[in-house]
Amino acid sequence: MYSEFYQNPPTFERIRRAAYELKSSYPCLKVFSVGRSVLGRTLYAIGIGPLKGATLFAGGFHGMEWLTSLMLFRFCEDLARALTTGQPLADIDITDAFENRSLLVVPCVNPDGVEISLGGPQAALSLTPLVERVSCGDTSHWQANARGVDLNHNYDAGWQALHQMEQQEGICGPGPTRYGGPRPHSEPETMAMVNLCRAFQVRQVYAFHSQGEEIYYRYGRNTPARSQLMAEVLASSCGYTVAAPTGLASHGGFKDWFIEKYRRPGFTFEIGRGENPLPIEDLEPIYARLIEALLLAVLI
Ligand SMILES: [Zn+2]
Repeated sequence: MYSEFYQNPPTFERIRRAAYELKSSYPCLKVFSVGRSVLGRTLYAIGIGPLKGATLFAGGFHGMEWLTSLMLFRFCEDLARALTTGQPLADIDITDAFENRSLLVVPCVNPDGVEISLGGPQAALSLTPLVERVSCGDTSHWQANARGVDLNHNYDAGWQALHQMEQQEGICGPGPTRYGGPRPHSEPETMAMVNLCRAFQVRQVYAFHSQGEEIYYRYGRNTPARSQLMAEVLASSCGYTVAAPTGLASHGGFKDWFIEKYRRPGFTFEIGRGENPLPIEDLEPIYARLIEALLLAVLI
């Protein structure tokens, strides 16, 4: 696209424009809304192929982790170009490989959180007073949505256990990070992903976060037997480490809920290494290292 798009953080307005530019450049893509954020910002999805039974990629769950959104746009654009021109991507013949495959991508699940982490409390519009209060005015490390709920703690997977752990750690209400909300699936962004998985009978999910160069695949007894091998194949492609979450990261996540609910494979990729927010210069090296694994993640 629009290499300029990949050289700046993805504010909501830039995401909105990029979604429409992709759609007009590549008719093979479907671009549509899957819901709205607390503040009414559209949650965009990009679809490639017949979407029933698609693989789902989702990023931008956490405000500071907007590099994941740029990476997913980057991948969609490369994939659409390869499908349009017939050229291989990462040495893989995409036209043949995608014959029986399809992909759904939600680049930014938490546009309000990204806006707040980039633009400060004013980006929370009517919720500015709440965001100002719970962040003490410093939103540079904001991860939650506009109501101060951490979306990756809001899914119905071990939510009660997680809620107790949060309280033991003194997290009792809205904040910049790690508050799981008043009840599971209380947030519109969470429900949009739940409805999307149900509507398209999604085959497997990959949630993108930063950072750590790690891949997670396990959640409880419903983890499919093949998930470990899939994680190992993906890890060997990109050199990331297969890992298991601990502490407050061990319940309530999107991939946790998907595994528990559907008994199908779900993964979390922690992309890059360093301190969040990762600098924009990291996008290209991270993407170059992951592109083959991203393709395998759909084809596997
Ligand atoms: Zn995250």
